[in-house]
Amino acid sequence: MTPAYEPVESPDATTVFPYHDLTPPTTNDIYYARQIVSQHLPRTPLVRSEFFSAEFDADIYLKREDILPTGAFKVRGGVTLVSQLNEEFRDPGLIAASTGNHGQSVAYAGRTFDAPVTIVVPEDANPSKVMAIERLGAEVQFHGDVFDDAREHAEKLAANEGYRYVHSANEPALIAGVGTAGLEIVEDIPDIDYLFCPVGGGSSAAGYCLTVGALTDAAVIGVQSEAAPAMHSAWSEGHLAPHERMETFAEGIATRVPFALTMDVLRDRLDEFELVSEQALERGVCDLLSEERIPAEGASATSLAAIRRRQDELQGQTVVFPISGRNISPDALKVLLEEENTRR
Ligand SMILES: *Cc1c(COP(=O)(O)O)cnc(C)c1O
Repeated sequence: MTPAYEPVESPDATTVFPYHDLTPPTTNDIYYARQIVSQHLPRTPLVRSEFFSAEFDADIYLKREDILPTGAFKVRGGVTLVSQLNEEFRDPGLIAASTGNHGQSVAYAGRTFDAPVTIVVPEDANPSKVMAIERLGAEVQFHGDVFDDAREHAEKLAANEGYRYVHSANEPALIAGVGTAGLEIVEDIPDIDYLFCPVGGGSSAAGYCLTVGALTDAAVIGVQSEAAPAMHSAWSEGHLAPHERMETFAEGIATRVPFALTMDVLRDRLDEFELVSEQALERGVCDLLSEERIPAEGASATSLAAIRRRQDELQGQTVVFPISGRNISPDALKVLLEEENTRR
């Protein structure tokens, strides 16, 4: 009989279990995670964008997280977390709620370390992401209209069945794993001036704060869509209350609830936090495809949108932003390109 865990009190509006330690990882934890990540995943290239460098009169580099096997940075965190999985969870396995990339990450890591995985997704989840999760051997369950419905269902199943519930942000090991991208950047360009990154749950930004932010003089700037500004509001207003607005087309950053652990790191260390428009994200996706031939998710275009607004300040500077994921559905990409064509 598996020991069932009951949720415990959480500092934010999400559910956590007793095994969710909300102590932020240290930069050292990220060096440790690096040893795991480098055994299981390729190092991702940091590539100068000739197009954007010319456009912004700066040295713009793209951290190509899209070339990871799941097509998004999150798998760094999944592999790190599951490599340290407590034995008691090996049989029941793992469960997570996801709009796609977190699910692919946990599914990939479960396959790597031989633990069964269940991923709960909202009914209208991006079909190409759902197929990818199934291809990795995980069981997919559809539940509810939006992410938070799927999340509550996953939490209930975790309590009833004894699965290890992998939270999308309140997990030090996820943040440490994701942070390994920052260590690679620091090694490749120690004289970086700016790092821009999308903020959804904030694990990626927290990872960059604890690496690029802690080890270089660079400013780390988080970016969110003004159509889904939960983390931005919480960060600037000093609370952890959910936000009623959550309308972005970029599902990688579609969060309604701010998360305690990532917020802790971001309040401490994030230099600036910006909001950009949905239209700027659409334009960014089209530019990345037409100029760099990179199919990027809407979330990845947040950085580009913020860079575009700060052109004057960035002239002559060394700027890095991650292509955080490439799992945009072909249909969504087609619609975006058509709309953008009529706009121009
Ligand atoms: C999850 C995700 C983000 C946001 O990352 P967080 O760590 O949740 O802030 C950005 N881009 C893509 C492609 C993602 O999948």
